[in-house]
Order: sequence, then C-alpha cells, then structure tokens
Amino acid sequence: MTTAIVAFQIRPIPVDVLDQVRARGVDAVSGTPIEHLVAGGGEPLRCCLRDASPGEEAILFGYEPPLPTSPYRENGAVFAHAESCPGPNSTQGYPRDWRGRPQVLRAYDMRGWIHEASRTHDGQDPERVIAAMLSNPDVTQIHSRNIVYGCYMFTITRAADSLAAEGDADSGP
Ligand SMILES: [Zn+2]
Repeated sequence: MTTAIVAFQIRPIPVDVLDQVRARGVDAVSGTPIEHLVAGGGEPLRCCLRDASPGEEAILFGYEPPLPTSPYRENGAVFAHAESCPGPNSTQGYPRDWRGRPQVLRAYDMRGWIHEASRTHDGQDPERVIAAMLSNPDVTQIHSRNIVYGCYMFTITRAADSLAAEGDADSGP
C-alpha cells in the first residue's frame, strides 16, 4: 500500500506578529520583556525557519501558537531575528535545517485538542510522516516542537486549508 503525498504548507510565525513583538519590546502573552542576544549559532529562528549563524542579533520571547480556545493552548520561548525579517523563501516545502532534526509532531483537531496522531519524528522523510498524519481527516494542524525543550517551531497544515484561529484574511485560495 502506498500513502499519497499530501500537499502541505509550512506556517511560520506571521511577519506582522513578529514585528509587533519587536516594536513593543514585550511578548503578547504576559507582557514579559523580550530578551536580546547575540546568537552563538544553531538557534532555530522562527521568522525565516533556519538556524542562526554565530553573531546574528536575535530575540527570545514567549509565544502562544494560534489554536482554537481549548485547554491545550500553551506558550513557550521562541527565537527570531532581532530586526524585521521577510520570512522563509518558501513555505511549500519542509525547512532544510529541520531535516534530520528530531521533533515532536503534535497533531491537533478542530477543537484545538491534541490528537492521538501526535508522534516523535527523527527528521527523516518528513513528507511521508506528515502525509500519514494529515491522512487522518480529524487532524487539522500539526505543531513541530523541540523534542527536549518542547519549544514551538512552526505549524503545518494541508496546503488547501486556512487556519481559522489565525484571524487573517488570506487572499489566496
Ligand atoms: Zn529571520
């Protein structure tokens, strides 16, 4: 049996959300001041979805990924570039720096509850793993997270889906 490869979309933290955090200097969750730091190298940047190079100016702040209101909403620390960043070149493919990087792929249903399709992932063949998870019609989105610290990296949806909780007016289909 073969699993059809489901077209998916990678959804980093939106550019406008990051710009608001930079402008306000505090996170949107609790008003905690953001931390400014110089990257040692390898920090996963949630703006453009690549690892920081040594010496890059970065910020660290608390972020709550959008989910429908549910007991499973949570916030945690994320790195981003200190200055405004246009984001990744493409959101159609799995980010290169995450290939081979173990992650927790946490699936959610339409209520924003964690779905049992959630799993740990060794970073190999992410297209096949994501397709298998999205083949369950009850799974509406997947959050990729650090396997030890649990920190949020990015969201994955079917390419055709929009994120209801995101509150943005997507111009595309
Ligand atoms: Zn960036």
